[in-house]
Amino acid sequence: MSKRTSIAILGSTGSIGRSSLDVITSMNEHGEDYHVNYLVTNKNVDLLYQQVKKYAPAGVVIIDEKRADQFRSYLNGEKLKVYSGESGLMDVMSGGEFDVLISSLVGFAGLRPTLKALEAGKTVALANKETMVVAGEIVNETASRYRATLLPVDSEHSAILQCFSGEGKKSVAKLILTASGGPFLNRSKEELENVTVEEALNHPNWKMGNKITIDSATLMNKGLEVIEAHYLFGLPADKIDIVVHPQSIIHSMVEFVDGSIKAQLGMPDMKIPIQYALTYPERVESKYQRIDFSRIGQLTFMPPDIEKFTLIKSAYEALRQGGTSTAILNAANEAAVDLFLRRRIRFMQISEFVDAALGAIEPKKSPDIDEIFEADRDARKFVYAEAEHV
Ligand code: MG
Repeated sequence: MSKRTSIAILGSTGSIGRSSLDVITSMNEHGEDYHVNYLVTNKNVDLLYQQVKKYAPAGVVIIDEKRADQFRSYLNGEKLKVYSGESGLMDVMSGGEFDVLISSLVGFAGLRPTLKALEAGKTVALANKETMVVAGEIVNETASRYRATLLPVDSEHSAILQCFSGEGKKSVAKLILTASGGPFLNRSKEELENVTVEEALNHPNWKMGNKITIDSATLMNKGLEVIEAHYLFGLPADKIDIVVHPQSIIHSMVEFVDGSIKAQLGMPDMKIPIQYALTYPERVESKYQRIDFSRIGQLTFMPPDIEKFTLIKSAYEALRQGGTSTAILNAANEAAVDLFLRRRIRFMQISEFVDAALGAIEPKKSPDIDEIFEADRDARKFVYAEAEHV
């Protein structure tokens, strides 16, 4: 009988949150003992209520105060602590009874609560790559100071973690992140001018939330993952490569100093890396779909077209510059993606706005957390103001 692990899910009603709950259900069916103790959502209280009935957590957090009131009106004598707002969230992150936080809020919003959980010494399964992108150094320092463990959920970084198993740091020559290429892999730069929100949201391999799906269409997702990999695994930008692999079967690779390469393969299903983060360094059984090589037929590879998907260049550049550059990059991208999803700007303007923000805002070296928040605010403000002129 394994020991009970209690879990908090930050962003339980989002794509990763829902998959995490499925993973927990499945592992428990296979004899494991995971209990969901806290569920956190921004505003989807209807789904949260269903999750509460199924998983019986000790408490929930609803970040949006109005929705929290709505949620309280659903309750009918359930033994449940309901927290709300930013302060309720911070109370649970620092004082809540849980062993592992699945950090899967979307975007910059995940940073503060993730840091709080690390300060409380919790293990954090990180699905929120933006946290690493904007404040990687601070996140790493916080984790080491409070002896908290940080584990990647992102499929590429989970793959690298698995390839690292049994290897010394000195043996690693480079990381090779695979990219599906997104829905616009075979479109010309001219054709990209007129793509619609619906086309951009139609990812060929992965079912994900809207923000990350747009990031996959611009390939910014891969740029963010290069930065995330840098902070998770400590390799410099020139030792992190990207290769386009449209089948999304190899989730990433590590090349070693002797020329050997290890790859991690699996069907494109986020439940597999989520489960690995929860059972690391061990593995437990799952019923998830297996690879049938005779059906896949071939695995293909090509270099990313950085003249078409220029945000890859912008991300490498921001990483090389360091300081608040990556926070500016991320915030400008979040704002531009938001504007694109609301049909206020065209697809190709996402990269234009990100580059304009990087050019306009002076980055700060070795920022503290307040300077990162300031850079984030400045970059958002810049992009929304620019959008007024178009
Ligand atoms: Mg990924």
